[in-house]
Amino acid sequence: MDSITTNDCEIHFNNACYKAINKHVKQNNFSKIFILVDENTHQYCLPYFLEKLETNIVVEIIEIESGEVNKTIDTCVGVWNTLSDLNADRKSLLINIGGGVITDLGGFVACTFKRGIAYINIPTTLLSMVDASVGGKTGVDLGHLKNQIGVIDNPNLVLIDTTFLNTLPQNQMRSGLAEMLKHGLISDEIYWDKFKDLSKLTLDDLDVLIYESVLIKKNVVENDPLEDNLRKTLNFGHTLGHAIESYFLSNPNKTTLLHGEAIIVGMILACYISTELTGFPKQTTIDIKDLFINYYGKVTIEEEDYPAIIELLKYDKKNNHGNINFVLLESIGTPKIDCLVDDKIIIDAFHFYDNQ
Ligand code: NAD
Ligand code: ZN
Repeated sequence: MDSITTNDCEIHFNNACYKAINKHVKQNNFSKIFILVDENTHQYCLPYFLEKLETNIVVEIIEIESGEVNKTIDTCVGVWNTLSDLNADRKSLLINIGGGVITDLGGFVACTFKRGIAYINIPTTLLSMVDASVGGKTGVDLGHLKNQIGVIDNPNLVLIDTTFLNTLPQNQMRSGLAEMLKHGLISDEIYWDKFKDLSKLTLDDLDVLIYESVLIKKNVVENDPLEDNLRKTLNFGHTLGHAIESYFLSNPNKTTLLHGEAIIVGMILACYISTELTGFPKQTTIDIKDLFINYYGKVTIEEEDYPAIIELLKYDKKNNHGNINFVLLESIGTPKIDCLVDDKIIIDAFHFYDNQ
């Protein structure tokens, strides 16, 4: 459980991380090392990392403000300017330490600065460890449209040290866990079964589960790098989940939902729709709903919210030619992509979610 090598990148776990980065820094003749953090990872993660980094090369710290609202081209301009002011050159290394905002934005900055400099990602949230760390997607938002500007490129190394999770707020842990649950549902019944006792999972259990989750995502991405088919299965729960997330974000009367919390609702709805359309067992859908609601609680979605959420689906970038494409399940571990679903079944799914 030390390392995973993908087609284009090495991913190291826990203690293996520091052996790998120290060797990498020694072998490559970097002129300077830059570390990108936000205020939280500056406080909680950077000191620990600096203790482990062995180098005589000059290290400069660049801090940006945390949060999705800062995942913008303006923030990139700030980082590009700082790199330039500090004389970064083509032999510089950028190390991104943070959640998905830092690794997406830092990756994009590295890929574009002087036509590309070396970079290393150190994901420090559960979501960025199991999701954003694999697949090479970098980028920033354009206005309210997510991830519109970016490139696909892999970091030299990804270092996943679960020690960083000790300071991560509980709600962020639960949000990341949603992506791991998704990995189980779309690809592996044995892996899925390990989550039967969600509330009893310890950080030690998580260590192994994170490794397996990364392996699942790596296999999906490697078999379909350009998102023609298999990679689409990673959108399970995300069609309705994204629409619910955006609806709650833009509606002042609603509480803000973290991405994973919205995806949990989206997965329950997608299971119901699967039962209606693909023969996914009804009892399994009921069990998944109970498991998720017991752990995550229930999100209040009123009857009057349904039309606006369905309207938002039509803007989902994964839709082709105006049709709403769902990923459904035939059984646990057997997803079915490009399923067309009409509005009535979606409304029935909301009723199912709402009923005790
Ligand atoms: P995030 O980066 O905003 O981090 C969440 C919060 O946790 C932030 O306030 C951050 O400062 C704080 N934080 C990070 N690590 C911490 C730690 N160890 N201790 C305490 N606080 C810590 O959010 P996220 O959920 O990690 O990432 C979301 C982003 O990831 C989105 O922009 C999304 O588009 C992107 N993403 C990218 C991919 C990809 O394939 N590239 C996949 C999934 C998501
Ligand atoms: Zn997601």
